[in-house]
Amino acid sequence: MSRRSRSSQEWEVRASTLARNTSNLIRNIVENLQVEPNPDKEFIALSIGDPTTFGNLNPPDHVLQAVRNAIETHTSRGYGPVKGHLEARQAVAEYSAHQGEILPDDVILSSGCSHAIELVITALADSGQNILVPRPGFLIYKTLAEGLGIVIKYYNLLPDEQWKVDLEDLESQIDDDTVGIVVINPSNPCGSVFDKDHLSEILDVAQRNHVPIIADEIYEHFVFSGNTFTAISSISKDVPVLTCGGITKRFLVPGWRMGWVIIHDRNNILGKEIRRGLNNLATRILGPSTLIQRALPMILKCTPQSFFDEVVLFIENQAKLAYEELRRAQGLRPIMPQGAMYMMIGIKMALFPKFKSELQFVERLVSEQSVFCLPGQCFEYPNYMRIVLTVPEDKLREACQRIVIFCNDHVDNGERVKEIVSDIVSVPSDAEVIM
Ligand SMILES: *Cc1c(COP(=O)(O)O)cnc(C)c1O
Repeated sequence: MSRRSRSSQEWEVRASTLARNTSNLIRNIVENLQVEPNPDKEFIALSIGDPTTFGNLNPPDHVLQAVRNAIETHTSRGYGPVKGHLEARQAVAEYSAHQGEILPDDVILSSGCSHAIELVITALADSGQNILVPRPGFLIYKTLAEGLGIVIKYYNLLPDEQWKVDLEDLESQIDDDTVGIVVINPSNPCGSVFDKDHLSEILDVAQRNHVPIIADEIYEHFVFSGNTFTAISSISKDVPVLTCGGITKRFLVPGWRMGWVIIHDRNNILGKEIRRGLNNLATRILGPSTLIQRALPMILKCTPQSFFDEVVLFIENQAKLAYEELRRAQGLRPIMPQGAMYMMIGIKMALFPKFKSELQFVERLVSEQSVFCLPGQCFEYPNYMRIVLTVPEDKLREACQRIVIFCNDHVDNGERVKEIVSDIVSVPSDAEVIM
């Protein structure tokens, strides 16, 4: 393409390829939904993955105090080192000791976890290379990669096995251009939690094929009773792991934009080059907010376990509530999560022949019942919808009850009977009873 000559008489300012090719699927889908809520019913958004939306979940006082204190120190106003202030990186290293042995030099502070993900993706991948991402998955990966020509390939999670990784599918997706496997644990949008054995199986695939792991552990420790959180880095023997984390979800402060990359490279496979690359890339924003960096040691060290326990217990109870309510809905299949703050709900579309897709299902749910759930298409996973569990209890109950009513209003009873019969017929002993 030839450039226009400067002397041309007219203005022509064009957006760059990166700008034109960058999009956020969730935003696109949500902004294109052209439906008005039912004016007679209070609108309840179960769609927003921001735990601060309703004001019912707040960080403990000393976390706020830490930022107030930081404001008073003059070093919270200037630029810091691009990787972050040493005290802050030291605090992250101690806070993350469960991941393995970490030195402050292994930590790079970032502007939120999504920036950590961007640093890692752009440090590993060139245009034309690919990264494997779980499906259903979190779409920031696509947003960050696509405009740069980095290819996102999906590997499947198994809804009937608590969203475990389909290991065969994972391995079959790896090719010569694969530079990283993303593991999101606990998962957004599934709320699943992988145990040690399963994480080892994933590591085995990575080991056999010599592909590093990108661990998205923004929901670390966010697990319900009976489940244990294991950092994948803590059990990796050889596979290098780049862990992305931050304070966003656990401390309920998404707007503070503080995250980090932690480099786990026991056998020095990544070597100096990746470290230097991450450093180089960090200079692009001259480091994240020094105000929050200065508050970080107090935030990470002084928060009592009881605060975390209360938040997780609240979300677990919300999950049980939603599960119990939605199980009664005809044509839905809620999948009980084990952690994080979301629940995926299968929609048996065959029972709702009126709706062409789950997109129409959620649109009509808004216009009739004023309840908004994110359609599965936002996670490259049709026939499902995702709800957020952090909304206040009374709103969650009300929303679920309205979803049940909506399903009962729209389920096709002919199709429903056929389904029941085919369920029974498929079991031989029962088939005799019917005949
Ligand atoms: C929320 C979220 C992030 C992004 O966190 P920020 O710190 O707000 O950038 C990254 N990964 C997953 C899976 C998330 O749910």
